[in-house]
Amino acid sequence: MRRPIIAGNWKMNKTNSEAMSLVKEFVPLVSGVDDVDIVICPPATAIAAVADAVKGTNVAVGAQNVHWEESGAYTGEIAPAMLTELGVTYSIIGHSERRQYFGETDEGVGRRAHAALAHGITPIICVGESLEIREKGTYLDFVAAQVKAALKGFKPDEVKKLVIAYEPIWAIGTGKTATFEQAEEVCAHIRETVKAEAGAEAADAMRIQYGGSVKPATIKGLMEKPNVDGALVGGAALKAKDFSEIVKFKEQ
Ligand code: 13P
Repeated sequence: MRRPIIAGNWKMNKTNSEAMSLVKEFVPLVSGVDDVDIVICPPATAIAAVADAVKGTNVAVGAQNVHWEESGAYTGEIAPAMLTELGVTYSIIGHSERRQYFGETDEGVGRRAHAALAHGITPIICVGESLEIREKGTYLDFVAAQVKAALKGFKPDEVKKLVIAYEPIWAIGTGKTATFEQAEEVCAHIRETVKAEAGAEAADAMRIQYGGSVKPATIKGLMEKPNVDGALVGGAALKAKDFSEIVKFKEQ
C-alpha cells in the first residue's frame, strides 16, 4: 500500500514573515495526521525559517528546485547540500512553470533529480501536457516521453523513491481541475510507463500525485482513484484551513 503524499507548492508567494504566519497557523491543524506524508515547499528565502518552525512535527519541507552541481558559478541556483543542511527532504523538479518560462529541459530535469536523490532529497518530478496537446489527443504519449526522460539512469530501487506529479498545464491555476477519470487515466499510464522502464516492483512502489486546481472539495474523489497517491497543491496550499482539509481528506 502506497503512503499518500500531499505537497503544497507555494510558488513565488509569501515573504519570510508571511511564510511564518502561514506555517504557524497550518501546523497545529494537521498535528494528528500520521498516515499521510505532508510537505510544504516555500520560496527559497523562507526555507530556513520554515524548516526551523516545523522541526519535530509531521510536516516536511521541500524546495521548489535544486541544481545538479555541488557548488560553483551558477548564479541564481541552489545546490543540494545548501538544502539538506537546512533540513529539506523533498524538492519539486521540472515544474511546468520552470519548463515554460525558464527553459528547463527534460535533460536538466533528469540531472536535477539524480543530484537530489544522491543527497537524500526526494524528487517530486513534474510532468504534464498543454491544452494544445490535450486537444490534439497525444497527451498520453507526451507525458510518457517526459516520464521516460526523467527516469533515465535510475536503478529500479531508486525509482521506487521518486515521486511523479502529473500536472496538466491547462488545469494549473485555472480553477479547471481535471476530472477524476482524466487524472486516473494519465496516472495509470504513468505507472505503466514506469513498469515498462523499471519493472513492476518499482512501478507499484512509486508514488504519483495529481496537481492542478486541487481543492478541499476535489481531493477525496481524486484520492479514491487507484493510481493517484497524492496531490501537488498550488493556490489552496496558501490557505492554512484549505490545505489542512486537503491533507485530512480521509476525514471527509
Ligand atoms: P494550482 O493548485 O494553483 O492549480 O497549482 C498547481 C500547481 O502547479 C502545483 O505545483
